[in-house]
Amino acid sequence: MQQHIDTYDFSGKKAIVRVDFNVPLNENFEITDDTRIRRAVPTLKKILSKGGALIIMSHLGRPKNADPKKGDPKFSLKHIVDHVSECLGVPVKFASDCMEADQAAKALKPGEALLLENLRYYAEEEGKPRGLAEDATEEETKAAKAKVKESQKEFVKHLASYADCYVNDAFGTAHRAHASTALIAKYFPNDKMFGYLMEAEIKAINNVLNNAQHPFTAIIGGSKVSSKLAVLKNMLNKVDNLIIGGGMGYTFIKAQGGHIGNSLHEDELMPDALEILKEAKEKGVNVSLSVATVAADRFENDADTKVVDIKEIPDGWEGMDASPASLENWRKIIMSSKTILWNGPVGVFEMPNFAKGTLQIAQDLADATAQGAYTLVGGGDSVAAVTKMGFADKVSYVSTGGGAMLEAIEGKVLPGIAAIEED
Ligand code: AMP
Repeated sequence: MQQHIDTYDFSGKKAIVRVDFNVPLNENFEITDDTRIRRAVPTLKKILSKGGALIIMSHLGRPKNADPKKGDPKFSLKHIVDHVSECLGVPVKFASDCMEADQAAKALKPGEALLLENLRYYAEEEGKPRGLAEDATEEETKAAKAKVKESQKEFVKHLASYADCYVNDAFGTAHRAHASTALIAKYFPNDKMFGYLMEAEIKAINNVLNNAQHPFTAIIGGSKVSSKLAVLKNMLNKVDNLIIGGGMGYTFIKAQGGHIGNSLHEDELMPDALEILKEAKEKGVNVSLSVATVAADRFENDADTKVVDIKEIPDGWEGMDASPASLENWRKIIMSSKTILWNGPVGVFEMPNFAKGTLQIAQDLADATAQGAYTLVGGGDSVAAVTKMGFADKVSYVSTGGGAMLEAIEGKVLPGIAAIEED
């Protein structure tokens, strides 16, 4: 049975907590953005304040070494111990091998904390074989997979043996069925729960997918239709308005016979784009594509630009940002919506000259929020855009999980969430 962090009695107990401390480090191993650590602090502090002891576990990067004892120091969590101590206000101990932390875990007293070394030093965390020869046969690959799956059972059991309860606060990895994100939960059938960050993310997902106030509008941008196909299809069952912007919009325009010059597009996705438009019509969903675009003669910030009809982009020119006319249409839709989900920028926002459209959408969302709409930004570069542009605290919720949020809005069940919720 699932517990709740507010009501669970942590006193004298050891809690093993999966967090997402996969923070960016510079070449001196200094943290360049500690958002992920700060977002987990309320959960960790709560457990400490309730008399619990913490065994904190996370991954960092993608270490590939087949031998966990020789784990690449580049991916060591030892680099962040001091900062985590500072954030928690207690000295955090460090176990340099997550499988050899028995004594350290046992010695923990209430209010103390221990951080385990990068779980992904062990292939068992992800359950995928490492060190396979490139020319491995199908049979060898199959055998290696079976072997790691087998040893994964011991790995999970060992991690679970350190603690009395399990808390998952790692939304960023909730879409992975890994040892520490999903499999470990079964060792704590009556002592498992979400942390506050997970809870907030799940609530945000529910607010848009299951309890949306209408009109509900999804703004889907970004580069490719192929990476957002499942999101688009799921949205057709939920929304009243679907705004399609950014690079992916040109595939829709070309599929309908428009001339898109050198704009980004995927020919092989054109049938899917037409299918989405057809389905939208059948379901009464209002699809709004760009009407005009800011086109550039090169994929560079200082390229020459002109605003052109979206269906008549000259050869040698490519669509780079949403035009004022498209943005005006979209603002009307956004301002008359009660729920808005935004995934993906509507232009090449990394280049300042082509960030205006994305900035305007961020402004529209902020205005809609101020007017009482529920606005969620999640799953892709739109999160980076709103953060960079200073709008993160002007919308209802900004998700911390790129891939996890994307899968959630595709309508998939996330293994990290299911493992806590199911009996
Ligand atoms: P995604 O990760 O799918 O949200 O895609 C984000 C990327 O889409 C960003 O790097 C943007 O620069 C890119 N993008 C948005 N609009 C365009 C466009 N018109 N042409 C090329 N790339 C674009």
